[in-house]
This record gives sequence, structure tokens and C-alpha cells, in this order.
Amino acid sequence: MAALLELDDVRARYGPVQALHGVSLSVDEGKIVALLGANGAGKTTTLRAISNTVRREGGIRFAGKAVGGGGPDDVARLGIAHVPEGRGTFAELTVWENLRLGAYTRRGPIKDDFARVTDYFPWIEERKNQQAGTLSGGEQQMLALARAFMQRPRLLLLDEPSLGLAPRLVTEIFRIIKDLNEEGLTVLVVEQNAHIALQLAQTAYVLEVGRVALSGPSAELQEHESIRRSYLGY
Ligand code: ATP
Repeated sequence: MAALLELDDVRARYGPVQALHGVSLSVDEGKIVALLGANGAGKTTTLRAISNTVRREGGIRFAGKAVGGGGPDDVARLGIAHVPEGRGTFAELTVWENLRLGAYTRRGPIKDDFARVTDYFPWIEERKNQQAGTLSGGEQQMLALARAFMQRPRLLLLDEPSLGLAPRLVTEIFRIIKDLNEEGLTVLVVEQNAHIALQLAQTAYVLEVGRVALSGPSAELQEHESIRRSYLGY
């Protein structure tokens, strides 16, 4: 199977802090891949490197072509949507305005996309004129996902979608991610909760101090002693 996304020795720093020391990974088309690791391991920075929201060195290829060092918009136009940690919706704008912004990097009418989004998130139809900042945390997380979806991406980068959410909402969001994936969307997801991440993803990479320490099929990693001890707690 062809890799949709490939990172080769990707490095990134924040001033004197070297956050990534050379991360190499690949994400096959149609898969869900999880990025695990302790706080500060470099998970968020890896997603930022892919979406060009942090300066990086090293090679990134998407759909067989090298991704240049342009701005985040250039990466969005390639078909990569990034849902950052902390949701990143525009609090002052309505739900509908947030969704329209999601579609700004592409042409064509957005009515059909709105209809598809409301299939996944039926509450959005009734709440489309509500200010995003007045939504609950779970709703804002769903809106961030819906906004990314409006971009019609080929690859979705998701940073900690379960953060701060009640277990019921986590289950719902993960079900939606799975549904989107079954429709063909490829997903790279950063997740602190290794239990659910390894259930969701077919493959996972474990980062330690800015490097890939372990990787493999989720089923194998679940059995791996150091993963069980460090991340699964048994
Ligand atoms: P977490 O789960 O805590 O978000 P992470 O695995 O996503 O962790 P990163 O956020 O990528 O880790 O951080 C990697 C390293 O870069 C850490 O040492 C962190 O302190 C540092 N870092 C991250 N953002 C900045 C920043 N804006 N300025 C300086 N250092 C930063």
C-alpha cells in the first residue's frame, strides 16, 4: 500500500528547545494512525511540522510530492486539515461562520458539505446561528472536527480530540472519526489516552523526547511490555 504521508528525519525547534530530533513515520492511505507519548514528547510539534505551523527541517511527502515550506494555507490546499489541541474555533463567530471558514481553501458550493456535516452532527442545523464560544466543550470539539471536514481533506490531523471531554462524548467523537475513516479519510491522531487510541488506530508510533521510540500495529503495541507499563497501566 502506498503511503499518503511520509516524514523523513523531521526536526523542529522552539528557540533553543529542540522539540523534534528526527522523526520518521508514514501513514498509509485509508488508515488511522495514532501518535502516542508522554507530555512534551513532541506529538503536537509533529502535527505542526506537517501543517507548516512550525518551522521544520527534514522531508515531508504527501501523496507522492514533497511538501514545501510554505504557509499553513498551502498545506490545507494539498488536502491536509489540522484540528489543533484546544479546538481552535472562533468564539465570536457563529457555528455557520466557523464552518464556512473551514471551506475557504477550496472552490465550489458548500451546501452539500453542510448537509453531510449535519448528517454527522445533527445538532449543528438547529444551532448554526449560535456563537461558537457559547457551545459546550464537547460541542466545540465537534465543531472543530466539522470545520475540518468542510475542507474535504484527504488527511486529517487531530490533536487530542478527547481532551477534557466526558467519556460519553469521547466515545461519540471516536465513533465519528471511525465513520469518516470508513468513508475513506486518512487520519493521524495524537492522543494521551493510549487505551482508546490503540483501539481506534490500526498502527501507532510512540514518541519519546522528540524521536520515534517504538512503532507497529496497534494490536502488537498493546501487548508490548513497556507500552503496557508506561501508557496502559497494567
Ligand atoms: P503535550 O502532550 O504536553 O502537548 P507533546 O508531546 O504534544 O506534549 P510538544 O507540545 O510537541 O509535546 O512539545 C515538545 C517540546 O517542545 C517540549 O519540550 C515543549 O516544552 C517544547 N515546546 C512546545 N511548544 C513550545 C513553545 N511554543 N515554546 C517553547 N517550547 C515549546
